[in-house]
Amino acid sequence: MSIFRNDLLAGQVAIVTGGGTGLGRGISLAFARHGASVALASRSREHLDPAVREIESLGAKAIAVPTDVRVADEVEAMVTKTRETFGRIDILVNNAAGNFLCPAENLSPNGWNAVVGIVLNGTFLCSRAAGKVMIDQGKGKIINLIATTAWTGAPLTVHSGAAKAGVMNLTQTLAVEWAKYGIRVNALAPGLVDTEGSRENLWPDPAFAESLVQGVPIGRFGRVEEIADAALFLASDAADYITGATLVVDGGRWLRQMRI
Ligand code: NAP
Repeated sequence: MSIFRNDLLAGQVAIVTGGGTGLGRGISLAFARHGASVALASRSREHLDPAVREIESLGAKAIAVPTDVRVADEVEAMVTKTRETFGRIDILVNNAAGNFLCPAENLSPNGWNAVVGIVLNGTFLCSRAAGKVMIDQGKGKIINLIATTAWTGAPLTVHSGAAKAGVMNLTQTLAVEWAKYGIRVNALAPGLVDTEGSRENLWPDPAFAESLVQGVPIGRFGRVEEIADAALFLASDAADYITGATLVVDGGRWLRQMRI
């Protein structure tokens, strides 16, 4: 049961990158349940098509747009397709990411480029393409999924930490540059959420997962719905005076060093 009005995003159009899995899927479903039409963009139809069917079964509209966010032409085509299908773009969620554990000294240039390419370049390319549509409309909202590692550092994930720090900075810069066009740009930093992707890449060992959870003051993993609710809030008119901010939804994890 959502605390938000059912018509919170009625008539609005959202793009969610990586919208077929994990948090992106949860955010897409939450937006659709609250009235938005959603374009889901990632590389694999196997990820996108089931999520589109799920959204359609709610009586909402969705399209799958296979896209590699690292490729500028594909991103432009995805934004054009979304605008042609739904007529406008109100919300962009830059959620697509890649991540894996690797000591920095062993990280290959390809590994570095893959993660920085998806997270930092992809966020820039999608923001640029959708941002131009929003500038024409005089209104828009961009939400960038980052992580608290953007400011704490990210041992064993130097690629992801550096890329998320870049996205945080991009969030702040675009918030200032694009405020005059009615565009709000914010970041959302989830804590540990046990999605299939995060489990496979970051805590495949249940004992390690348990030790991570013990470092969370609230004492559990976050739920996909809790991150989706935070995205709904940032996308809603209730957040109209919030831009350039990072909303942390992590059960207090990044402050754990301060626990007594
Ligand atoms: P996930 O399920 O692994 O999702 C990653 C998504 O990115 C997939 O849908 C994938 O789809 C897409 N993707 C990967 N490479 C792409 C590319 N080149 N072009 C387009 N799409 C691409 O991960 P998640 O756990 O839901 O995480 C979602 C976001 O939250 C990420 O930004 C992550 O960094 C952030 N976050 C998650 C956690 C957590 O604990 N789960 C914590 C902090 C931050 P395809 O394979 O179909 O391309």
